[in-house]
Amino acid sequence: MLSIDGSEGEGGGQIIRSALALSLATGMPFAIERIRAGRAKPGLLRQHLTCVDAARTMSNATVLGATLGSRALTFTPGPLVPGAYRFDIGSAGSTLLVAQAIVPALLVDGGAWSLELVGGTHNPSAPSFDFFTRALAPLLARMGAPITATLDRAGFYPAGGGVVRLDLAGGAQLRRLVLEDRGAIRDRRVIAAVSKLPLDIAEREAATATRLLGWGADAGAAVELRSPGPGNVVSIVVEAEHATEVFTAHGERGVAAEQVARSAVRECSAHLATEAPVGSHLADQLIVPMALGGGGRFVTVEPTEHTRTQLALVPRFVGRAPTASDRGDGTWLVEVPPRLAG
Ligand code: ATP
Repeated sequence: MLSIDGSEGEGGGQIIRSALALSLATGMPFAIERIRAGRAKPGLLRQHLTCVDAARTMSNATVLGATLGSRALTFTPGPLVPGAYRFDIGSAGSTLLVAQAIVPALLVDGGAWSLELVGGTHNPSAPSFDFFTRALAPLLARMGAPITATLDRAGFYPAGGGVVRLDLAGGAQLRRLVLEDRGAIRDRRVIAAVSKLPLDIAEREAATATRLLGWGADAGAAVELRSPGPGNVVSIVVEAEHATEVFTAHGERGVAAEQVARSAVRECSAHLATEAPVGSHLADQLIVPMALGGGGRFVTVEPTEHTRTQLALVPRFVGRAPTASDRGDGTWLVEVPPRLAG
């Protein structure tokens, strides 16, 4: 059984999700200790526990230590059982982070899957639904694994209650992905959304972001989302020839709409100042599916701790190490070897 120190690298929830995805896909059991050891609330939170429960349910796994706050876990997967599943986080924890723990393995499995995930859909420090559908999913589709993602209802902190459906037709493949150039920018948009808050907030955000980016007011839209609780999110979408990127900021009580818009703009502008097609968040989320399939390479920005943690964890399950090298011009090349047969 593979032994993992959960406090290594980024030391948060990601190492658990990636270990679950890699274990489900390879059949290799693992034991993890010191789960989220350095965090203010260490151990498994609801979102992480839902990841474990989902992975267990879908593979009839044998699991020890799957309780709230647990700092050690052992996970021995069985074969995946395709079908329709529903997992409710029971809090505003991120549904798209639950997806991160299981979807790569389902793509390797190649069966037909239908998932309904209940919780948060637009959470700070997590992929938003818009990031998932516009940035990550199209690249998975290019690799041969199209996913239909539907937002039935948005979920914001603290009320949660959002519903995301992910449908995978059978026959998915994870072919080699090569993404070295961004190509020409084809479309750019600011989408500011509110739920149970005045639309004026979203209008101010869209106006501020488009003005700061110099894009013209018609690149901005203010929309209302249906959700059980109040929430506000700004998504800046840059659709380039070879990859789409999404930059996100969330409204917070006491933070002016203009400031929320500025924060998303800062991230977008920093990204556009480089030539990299793949931003820092997309980078860490591509490594596991690529390593489980045909590998490949992509150009990105300086690797984050999340990305470095993925680079270190992947070879423990699939044997061959992905690398990141500095190209000396502010961009980095991540190279992921294809998974070894067997
Ligand atoms: P923690 O243990 O720190 O509480 P967590 O389980 O909430 O962890 P992390 O381990 O920090 O989550 O992982 C966050 C994941 O969300 C990473 O894959 C990261 O790339 C992704 N992410 C964070 N912010 C964004 C964003 N703005 N857009 C897209 N993805 C994001």
